Amino acid sequence: MIVRVEVGAAGKKLVASNDVAAGMVLTHFRGPIVKRTDVRESDRRYALMIAVDGWLVPENESRWINHSCDANAWIEADTWAVVAQRPLRQGDEVTIDYATVSVDEYRQSPDDYTWDPAWSFDCLCGSALCRGRVDGYVLCGTVKEWNLGPSLEVVSYEGQGRGIRALRTFRKGECIERSHVIVIPKEQWPNIEHTVFYDHTFYWGEDEEDAALSLGFGSLFNHSYTPNAVYQRLFTQSEIHFFALRDIVAGEQITVNYNGAPDDGQPLWFSALP
Ligand SMILES: [Zn+2]
Repeated sequence: MIVRVEVGAAGKKLVASNDVAAGMVLTHFRGPIVKRTDVRESDRRYALMIAVDGWLVPENESRWINHSCDANAWIEADTWAVVAQRPLRQGDEVTIDYATVSVDEYRQSPDDYTWDPAWSFDCLCGSALCRGRVDGYVLCGTVKEWNLGPSLEVVSYEGQGRGIRALRTFRKGECIERSHVIVIPKEQWPNIEHTVFYDHTFYWGEDEEDAALSLGFGSLFNHSYTPNAVYQRLFTQSEIHFFALRDIVAGEQITVNYNGAPDDGQPLWFSALP
């Protein structure tokens, strides 16, 4: 078994029995699918709404998966598989963010959702990302995007200008940031080359003839020859994804090697961290 049920101070919980890689299926939500009026009172807080009037009442260990605002697993639609979103260590509690609908989405199509006050609770997940009140499984504000926003912050580093600091722990292999880019076609490069944008652009395209300016946090990671992160350019999606090369703890600066390969020691045109 890859997971097991344990009893903690706050009741039952599901924990990983082994180290688990991101993307692995941990368990499935299994149980009868019934109409809302047929959900027993004792099952109400565990029932998952999977259709307009279809409620899955989990009867296996998936029943004991707790909520976290910084969850390490998610539920795959259609199969109801619980998939590790990032690597888990043996003994880690498996958590899901049950609040996945934004208030805006709810307002736009209220008939598609059910607001059940039985699902509202004050969250005690203790995560730096904790939203406090989880209200009827609906998120306040905008749609949650995994790993974005409050996992990172921009800070000033002495002698380096701005850089990116981790606000939480990232496990080796975990995606830290997904940034969209503005692609600068090679014909336009001569107009950009001598501007401040020069230091913030990535080579782009299979032949690296174009350039790209990253949005989001992507332009502000500092360089290091011993980086703790690496980036991958997704040309067709016009995105850059940043991944942890090793475990990164909250408070650490996140750095990449702008020569591309993490161990590429070629000198750069600007001074780098050791
Ligand atoms: Zn929370």
